[in-house]
Amino acid sequence: MDCHHHVSEALRLSAELLKIADEQQKQCEHDGCILLDGVIRDSAWKIRQAALQWRLDLDPSNGVDGDMTSGIATG
Ligand SMILES: [Zn+2]
Repeated sequence: MDCHHHVSEALRLSAELLKIADEQQKQCEHDGCILLDGVIRDSAWKIRQAALQWRLDLDPSNGVDGDMTSGIATG
């Protein structure tokens, strides 16, 4: 379960990063802040994408309700 915890922590962190970038963007138009927001947002999306993909790989039945017989193959 450590892996699932790892993934959910990463998702939580990325959501927080996106929130920081959004809030800062509304308040400030400094070049430095805009640049920083871009880096934060970019990093957050990378974390999010990797975490979501890994969560799917860890638990392919995640989101599929109970029915394991359909056998959806990925890749
Ligand atoms: Zn600023």
